[in-house]
Amino acid sequence: MRPDLEILSQGEEVITGQTLDRNSAWLAGQSVDLGFRVRRQQTVGDDLADLTQILRDIATRSDVCIVTGGLGPTLDDLTREAVSQAFGLPLLHDPDAMRQIQAFYAIRNRTMPDINRKQALLPEGATRLDNHWGTAPGFYLQEQRCLFCFLPGVPSEMKNLFQQSVRPRLAETFTLNPGQLVTLRTIGIGESDLETRLAELVLPDNVSLGFRAGLDHVETKLWFPADYHAAERQHLAHQARDLIGDFVFTIDGLGQPSGSLIDVLDLELTARAWRCIFHETLSFGQMASKCAGRPWLLGSYCGIDPATLTATDAQIMIRQQLDLPLHQSLAADHAVNLTVELQTPTDTTQYHHRLTGSSTYKQNQAAMLSLNDLRQWLQQH
Ligand code: ATP
Ligand code: MG
Repeated sequence: MRPDLEILSQGEEVITGQTLDRNSAWLAGQSVDLGFRVRRQQTVGDDLADLTQILRDIATRSDVCIVTGGLGPTLDDLTREAVSQAFGLPLLHDPDAMRQIQAFYAIRNRTMPDINRKQALLPEGATRLDNHWGTAPGFYLQEQRCLFCFLPGVPSEMKNLFQQSVRPRLAETFTLNPGQLVTLRTIGIGESDLETRLAELVLPDNVSLGFRAGLDHVETKLWFPADYHAAERQHLAHQARDLIGDFVFTIDGLGQPSGSLIDVLDLELTARAWRCIFHETLSFGQMASKCAGRPWLLGSYCGIDPATLTATDAQIMIRQQLDLPLHQSLAADHAVNLTVELQTPTDTTQYHHRLTGSSTYKQNQAAMLSLNDLRQWLQQH
């Protein structure tokens, strides 16, 4: 049985939709990876009575609760008070926390505002979680069935504290069997076509299949139980890859080098010591933007006549050509034919795509498809 975990985010700006609750989404992903059963995600505004009630409820029904936000020094930061009221625990001054908060200000040559003293208060019985990335320490508290982990709302502080302290502590405290996830990433094929191609894949009852479509690529996910035989897992993943075909640019979870499309290009181009020049029309700089900082990208040209370009120090030149003027091609819902021409040391290859949708969608798709054409060529040669 997987232990039950809940996530509680706190803050008026989260509940009113001004801040997207990315903390909860991130924490849910981490918790599932660790092997927890994520039962609920909830958000409460800056209301002491609501917070107090919800903390009491959670203490009786879940094994773990990760709470984010409300640890700051201002009046709307109510988490400590709510814990104190919910469980009848006095707030005690923690001198070590105080020293850390003072040091945070001293190192930045700033004077600590008086209201920050409040951040050194912890409920009796809590264990402090040192925050090296901000002022507010987090804390753990075991209350009835539940181990509460209180973390700051600022995403970078929250993530650092989770990775450095909470994650190892949870892995140590609970017996977790996280299972195995294999992800096949594709470009140029939609979810329904993927499902059709995979209809022939015979899955055992304890293996499940799911899809997740993102802006840049689509993921096909295969979940295996923790004790699933490694060779069979690999066999099934390879069967899935063969059914999908060359749309797959990488497979995560089989212990081989994986990652994003750009990471795959990185491996291929670095191994050959080749460099590239892009000539972008429809993607309008997005190819270069996605590959910015990679040493194999010599440069990118936007909106100039491709005929004026010649290969210089680059082994690969990518040219995007369109059957319509650029401004028409980018018009919303105007279908455009994109030809991607790859000039390589051995040949010139053309790939053809038809794109529709909004201007930004077409720009991004043109970039991803052109980079994927390069990936296909590199992996086939
Ligand atoms: P602070 O010391 O900054 O007050 P805090 O622990 O009290 O930290 P909040 O005041 O609740 O946290 O949030 C600080 C900032 O962190 C918010 O302005 C928001 O930008 C971000 N934030 C808070 N909660 C979330 C969330 N659930 N998802 C994403 N971002 C969040
Ligand atoms: Mg705050």
